[in-house]
Amino acid sequence: MKQYISQLVELAKIDKKIDDFGPKIENIEQKLKKAAQEKRSIEQMIEQLKNEIQECELKKSKNELHLKELSEKLADIEKKSAQVKTEKELKALQLEEDIAKEQINFANEEIARLENICETKQDEIKSFEERLQESEEQYKKIEDEVKQELQELENEREKLFQMKSELIAKIPKQILVFYEKIRRWAGNTAVVPVKKQACMGCFMKINDKTYASVIKGEEITTCPHCGRILYLEEENE
Ligand SMILES: [Zn+2]
Repeated sequence: MKQYISQLVELAKIDKKIDDFGPKIENIEQKLKKAAQEKRSIEQMIEQLKNEIQECELKKSKNELHLKELSEKLADIEKKSAQVKTEKELKALQLEEDIAKEQINFANEEIARLENICETKQDEIKSFEERLQESEEQYKKIEDEVKQELQELENEREKLFQMKSELIAKIPKQILVFYEKIRRWAGNTAVVPVKKQACMGCFMKINDKTYASVIKGEEITTCPHCGRILYLEEENE
C-alpha cells in the first residue's frame, strides 16, 4: 500500500501542475489582449479625430455658404444705392452695408479659425497613425512570442499528461476512484501531508490512532475531520 500512497502523492502533484496551466495560459493571453486594447484605443482616437474634422469641415462650408450669400447681398446693396432718392434711404442702405461687411469679417475669421482647428487635428491624426503603426508592430511581436510560449506550455502539458497516464496505469482502479471522489471537492488538496500531527488540508490536529496509521502507511488514511488523503512528508521535502 505504501507505494500506492506515494504514487497518489505524485499523481496529486501532476494534477496540480496540469491545473496550474490554466492561469499560466491566461497570463500569456492577457499580454496579447493588452496589446490589442492599446491598438484599439489608438484606432478609436483616430476615428474620433476624423469625425471631428468632418464636423469642422461642415461648419467651415456653412460659413463659406454664408459668405457667398453676404457678398451677393453686398452687390445687391450696391445696385440699390445707385437708385436711391432720399437721404433716409441712403442711410438705411449704408447701415445694411455696414452690417453685411461686419458679418463678412466675422465669417472670414470663423473660416480661418476652423481651418486652423482642422489642420491641428490632421496633425494629431498623423502622429496617432505613427503610434498605430508602432503599436501594430508591437502587437505582431507579442503575438509571435505568445504563440511560442503557448506552444512550449502545450508541450510541457503534453509531457505531464503522458506522465499521468503512465502513473495511472500502475494504481489500482478503486484507489483512483477514491482519489477522484475526494478531488471533486478538495481540488488540488485531495492528498495532503501531515505536519506536527496536523492535517495540512484543514489544519486540524489528528488523533494518535490516525497518526499512527499514517506513519505505518499500510493503508490509505484519510483525515477524520475533512476526509482528505493523508501522507507523511519525507524529511527532505
Ligand atoms: Zn483535514
